[in-house]
Amino acid sequence: MSKPRRVVIVGGGTAGWMAANLLVSRWSREEVAVTLVESPQIGTVGVGEGSTPTLRRFFQLIDVADSDWMPACNATYKVGIRFDGWSPEGGPRSYRHPFFSQPDTFVTPSFLVNCRTRRLGLDVTTAPDKFFLNGALAGDHLAPLATENFPFDIDYGYHFDALLLGRYLTQVGVSRGVTHIEAKVSQVVVADDGLIDRIETDEAGSVSGDFFIDCTGFAGLLLQQALGEPFIDFATNLYNDAAVALPSAALSPLPCETVSTALSAGWCWHIPLTSRIGNGYVYSSRFLTAEDAEVELRRHVGDLDGAYEARHLKMRVGQLRRHWCGNCLAVGLAQGFIEPLEATALLLVQVTVEKFMDAWSSTGFASHPTESFNKQIVAHFDGVRDYIVAHYKLNTRNDSDYWRANRNNDVLSDSLRHLLDVWYRCDDLSAEIERQQLVSHFDTRSWHCLLAGYGVFPALADDQPGRGDLYVERDIERYQRGCALNFESHTAVMAAYG
Ligand code: FAD
Repeated sequence: MSKPRRVVIVGGGTAGWMAANLLVSRWSREEVAVTLVESPQIGTVGVGEGSTPTLRRFFQLIDVADSDWMPACNATYKVGIRFDGWSPEGGPRSYRHPFFSQPDTFVTPSFLVNCRTRRLGLDVTTAPDKFFLNGALAGDHLAPLATENFPFDIDYGYHFDALLLGRYLTQVGVSRGVTHIEAKVSQVVVADDGLIDRIETDEAGSVSGDFFIDCTGFAGLLLQQALGEPFIDFATNLYNDAAVALPSAALSPLPCETVSTALSAGWCWHIPLTSRIGNGYVYSSRFLTAEDAEVELRRHVGDLDGAYEARHLKMRVGQLRRHWCGNCLAVGLAQGFIEPLEATALLLVQVTVEKFMDAWSSTGFASHPTESFNKQIVAHFDGVRDYIVAHYKLNTRNDSDYWRANRNNDVLSDSLRHLLDVWYRCDDLSAEIERQQLVSHFDTRSWHCLLAGYGVFPALADDQPGRGDLYVERDIERYQRGCALNFESHTAVMAAYG
């Protein structure tokens, strides 16, 4: 029998432990032996508490039930994101970008048609949460778990305590055969052929491997530092480079959505856990000092007497030119980071690891088919970046230089420029997304939610026929109300988990 391939993961943040668990869930120890090296001295970034529905698939893949991991991580369900105050001039004060589910299949065509009708100047309903079920669940604080007589799958993500999730995934990984070494890497030894031979650690000596996964966070120890892979900065169209985080008391009834509120030089996340609310101000240090950001955040969350301790972080926004070179793959913050407006970081971790496993095993672990892999991962990052950039480009705030600079910024990718052109010309946005073969997480429904939610529409025509509103004609309100009857309160569901 041939020996197992030795994979060494360096870094034990959420990315490292997600990668480790995915690897051992797909490959037996006889095929691939997984070792994870992390330094408790250095610790993890300790933020990143909201997910997309891909995290649901992650737990399905590693066969762990919500009722098991969620109480251990003070986790809650997430049905989408509410955006407050991003486009006060053009659109409603607030709109929702929900995760989409099976029951939405029936109303999506009406939503898309209404958006087009509104682009022609006619007054029809376009608020996304009036159409999509998760929007209704968010409004009523309902958990996205339907009763048995409702035969549709509801998609959802989660909110969780990042430190507790790290600990939980460590236990699961170790119990399933991951070798865990706590040690600080002092050197990455590269052989003459350009492949990584081993790492040297302070506490545990050398660790050799056939393949290395760099999960060392913003440090980027292996692929960027040791192998010299260049980092492509996104600072020209994503200005935010810092954050300050601050908890506040838990809420009842328990919300099931993230709220993202535009502030003077960035935005604030508001993430409900069972134990507390996680808040954080993501801002641009070019426009706001760390001290002023903290003051503004405290005012926003109502912590005027400084009851909670704030944590300041710097963010490196961009991606590596290549995510996989030779026998090294970078995952998580080490491969790149796009600011957390749509909570996509763990989605990109999962996509990267799953595609890596497909690619590496497709050649019998023999060679490194990196070119097409890298193209796909770069396209995923670019797709997410463009969707986030659109939030800034389209803002209609006039209260600070920061928002004006974002609106006036013309550093847009060709892809984003075409998407916006098609929308303004009233052409078919879904066809354009298909034509461009956009592979990102954000499909035509997400783009329509964003553009309609911001109110990116022409002025209403003088002449209104008073019909053609499919929301009214198809009685979507009644459909949605009927669907929502099948869901219980989020607070009750989480209490039942214990
Ligand atoms: P880290 O958590 O930084 O882990 C790095 C690991 O490498 C640690 O274990 C460290 O000890 C180890 N290490 C480093 N150097 C060495 C060394 N020399 N020797 C040994 N070990 C070493 N993501 C989301 O999906 N949703 C969100 O809502 C979200 N919000 C965010 C908000 C902010 C402000 C920031 C900055 C990020 C956010 N993210 C979010 C991203 C998310 O935090 C990360 O993607 C996630 O935590 C994974 O981080 P990581 O494991 O790559 O890095």
